[in-house]
Amino acid sequence: MKIAEIELFHLNIPLKETFWPTWIPGYPQTHNRFTLIRIRTDDGIEGYSAGTAMGIERQGLGDLLGGYLLGSDPSDIDRIQSLLKQAGILGWLNFWIEPACWDIIGKAKGKPVYELLGGAARPIEVYNSFGELHEPGPRIQELLALKEKGFKTFKLRAKAKEFKDDVRLIEEVRKGVGPDPIIGMDANQGWLVSIVDRIPAWDLKRATDFARACADNKIEWLEEPLDWHDYDGLAALKKVSPVKIAGGELNHGWDEIKIMFEKDCFHIYQPDATFAGGIQQVMKVIDACHKHNRIFSPHTWTSGIGFYIGWNLVLADKGNTHPLEYPNEPPSWIPEYREGIIEPIIPDKNAMLQPFTRPGLGFEIDKKLLKKYGTRFYHQTEKGLAFKVIREKGLKTALDLKKRKEG
Ligand SMILES: [Mg+2]
Repeated sequence: MKIAEIELFHLNIPLKETFWPTWIPGYPQTHNRFTLIRIRTDDGIEGYSAGTAMGIERQGLGDLLGGYLLGSDPSDIDRIQSLLKQAGILGWLNFWIEPACWDIIGKAKGKPVYELLGGAARPIEVYNSFGELHEPGPRIQELLALKEKGFKTFKLRAKAKEFKDDVRLIEEVRKGVGPDPIIGMDANQGWLVSIVDRIPAWDLKRATDFARACADNKIEWLEEPLDWHDYDGLAALKKVSPVKIAGGELNHGWDEIKIMFEKDCFHIYQPDATFAGGIQQVMKVIDACHKHNRIFSPHTWTSGIGFYIGWNLVLADKGNTHPLEYPNEPPSWIPEYREGIIEPIIPDKNAMLQPFTRPGLGFEIDKKLLKKYGTRFYHQTEKGLAFKVIREKGLKTALDLKKRKEG
């Protein structure tokens, strides 16, 4: 099996209402944007994956990727991982592409990816992950409305300029919703983006004080309280924190996350395969969680396709009972726009997701919606690439290169 064709699409799905993500303070998000890759093998199997995007910044990426990936065996994940890493030396992080190869392997074997990874079908619970900073009054009502729909676990954001307002939020929300809902807090301090508002970064003291306030208000976990590379700070915080410390969502794969295990930074590891090294490297994190008695709970706030990738990994992690992040901030960030080109993912009235059994990563692309929201900006075949090489390097060199690559 080899990669015979690669296509890249910009996806641009307009939201009905503007979404204000706390991780880009002050930025009005009007679209769900991501890059979609479609890889086709020489036997016609199609694999898909998606990488979150701000705009069309990956416009030139195909020119780079084509030469690296065309002709390679998509089922040789070690080789794919190595090639994506090599392509990344020139600047882009390309791990979001690797799951498309798993999609192909699953489809070739007629099995869902989680089964290939040693998992089995089972219903899993999801938690409602809010993405905006709201005043306690409306937030209480929003949380209670979703509790009515079956959600038992929630995540709120602590992203106020002043410490006292972050504390006020959890105090008032806890008072307003009562003791039952399980709540986690995300400080979004791991990778600060300040293209609009400049919110001061937390230091170890603020993070420690907030962790204590979390305990006082029955908060289960505190996510990304410090910079993603402040391994020592995170380890110092974890040592004294009365609540679980979580993070690692966008760290660059196992090379970074293994340091976090060595330093003991977290109770909960949250690598998102579309950023943190692809499925293969996140499986290493799951293994390390078992070895060190830590919890795996992947970040999924990208697109519906990204959610499916995280879902496969949780299903692969047998015995994992931590609920999976379900990004949902009505009325702006909701399943219809989050998924965009695949069927909306909707949990049942107990916040449980029934397992999918389709082979591969499990989603099906709606080709009509892809046409509506997608713009293809790169298309290359193995043959097309061969002609390009002949044009640029001359026939003799092209033939010589082919021989060397195959031998
Ligand atoms: Mg987070």
